[in-house]
Amino acid sequence: MGMRKWLWGLLALLYATAGFASGIASADDAADAGATLTLRADAHEYVPMMELFRDEAGSRTVEDIRSVYDAGSFVLAEERTPNDGYGAPVHWARFEIVNESERREWLLSVAYPPLDRLQLYMIDASGSVVSEKSTGDALPFEERPLPNRNFVFPMELDPGERATIYLRAETEGALALPVSVSSPERFVGKEQSVVLLLGCYYGIMLIMIIYNSVLAVSLRSKAYLYYVLINVSTLFLYLTLNGTAYQYIWPDAVWWNNRAIVFFICLSHVAALLFTRNILNMKLESPRLYRAFTGLVVLETANVAVLFVDYPTGLQMSIYSIVAIQLLMIAACVAGWRNGSHTAKYFLLGWGVFMIGAMLSSLSDAGWLPMTWWTTYASQAGSAFQAVVLSWGLADHIQRMRKEKDRAVELMKESRRLADTDELTGLYNRRYVSHVFEAATRARPGRAVSLLMIDVDHFKKVNDTYGHEAGDQVLREMGQLMKSGFPRTDVLGRFGGEEFMVLLPDTTIEGARIAADRLIAAVRAQPFGQPKGQPLYCTVSIGVAQWKGGDETFLQLIRRADEALYEAKREGRNRVSIAGKAG
Ligand code: GH3
Ligand code: MG
Ligand code: MG
Repeated sequence: MGMRKWLWGLLALLYATAGFASGIASADDAADAGATLTLRADAHEYVPMMELFRDEAGSRTVEDIRSVYDAGSFVLAEERTPNDGYGAPVHWARFEIVNESERREWLLSVAYPPLDRLQLYMIDASGSVVSEKSTGDALPFEERPLPNRNFVFPMELDPGERATIYLRAETEGALALPVSVSSPERFVGKEQSVVLLLGCYYGIMLIMIIYNSVLAVSLRSKAYLYYVLINVSTLFLYLTLNGTAYQYIWPDAVWWNNRAIVFFICLSHVAALLFTRNILNMKLESPRLYRAFTGLVVLETANVAVLFVDYPTGLQMSIYSIVAIQLLMIAACVAGWRNGSHTAKYFLLGWGVFMIGAMLSSLSDAGWLPMTWWTTYASQAGSAFQAVVLSWGLADHIQRMRKEKDRAVELMKESRRLADTDELTGLYNRRYVSHVFEAATRARPGRAVSLLMIDVDHFKKVNDTYGHEAGDQVLREMGQLMKSGFPRTDVLGRFGGEEFMVLLPDTTIEGARIAADRLIAAVRAQPFGQPKGQPLYCTVSIGVAQWKGGDETFLQLIRRADEALYEAKREGRNRVSIAGKAG
């Protein structure tokens, strides 16, 4: 299937998903004046405007905070989702809530799972604290007011009642407060859709991981292994960010959960660097990039070590290295593309889309972009896209490598064939026949192997009478005659000049003699062209010897066959002579 067709399919799928997602994303913003939220109909999700106070010391109680509010130190938030980025102090958020509906039960949710500590205080019209709840991922999962990947607080408000909400948020990572209030029905409906989408993401990633792990093992490919590692760390990164990991995988691992995000970011970086380094064949093609990539792998590994010792420093380090790595990765892909690497194109597409998504998400995490449903999930959607495109690029890469390898094997075979054959006759050369002899006798030292040494009689005269060309033609036709006269299991070679040899495996001296006699007769009967209008007839003399077994070498065998051949010549040519057993 063409790349373009695939892309369109993928885009259509993304479009459909986006339509579905935007249905979820639309909160029914009930825009009130100031920081007062009026609950009217049941089916709505309300996003309050809040007033904020930055508690730099972080030591104030809710009582202190109420005096701070009375002193006028709270300021109205500029966005519906207050977002103060990394390294923010303790934040207090305040809004008033009026229940003008008939419903008593409401849910207040804070959709930012990485927050360490989150406290909710509800103060009634008379000014007394009627509800006080604590959560955050610094507490075990089971202590949550409602078992959800986000922080969800049940609230009770009588119809017509008015209350004040204070939220205290404290975290070592990025601080964002995406607060919303909705009826349980509305909450469940939305949550179902979001969980379904998250499930799709987890499913895509799991399939990619399982399928490519199988390939990694069966192909013994490092590239596939790195690809799997990228996807495993990315999947776990989002499981953590979505709050799913804390809910289902490590609900008690408070310390770990706080570090998991940075850990998986670093791990995915290490995997991505190794993967790109491997696929773009940097070691050979761009040693400078190779060194830069290796340096970053070391840096990311160090980052993990720092993370476990000092979380804020580790976090800071990872934020800076993200930028460096993304830039370098893009540079490497562009360089690879320029160098004619097809794989680099897939990488550029995959990384590019993921990076745009990741950039949107991290800019909003850092407080530079408003936090919306889109910025929250942009990097996750980008990561699914990247997983698919990279695996596609990887398959293409492996395919190309295999083709290149096949071509190299073909070339090698061809050059070996050339090295093994005699150019004039197309028979094997002496070297090759000797290899076959070695292999055949090494495997079975007891087997019968015979050798014919064949020499054309008075060949010099052929040359002298008809010319060298005619002589060559005789040799060529001799080769053809031998090829058609011996079974394929026999190895035919040209020893040099007008001498030939035939290696007959599993043949005793008696069998070899019969074969030799047959050849003598065949040569005698066949005219070798008509150089001067007259059919040219030739004869050959043949010396036959059988391998003695044990440690007789090929050279010794040849010598004995050769002696027999000279005997045949001495006795008048055009005949076969058998080598004596004495040798
Ligand atoms: P004998 O019966 O004793 O074998 O006589 P002969 O003439 O065949 O033996 P000799 O070894 O004296 O001569 C072999 C000749 O074969 C010498 C050389 O010119 C010729 N010859 C060797 N290689 C080639 C070749 O590749 N092409 C041609 N046309 N002639 C060759
Ligand atoms: Mg000769
Ligand atoms: Mg000769």
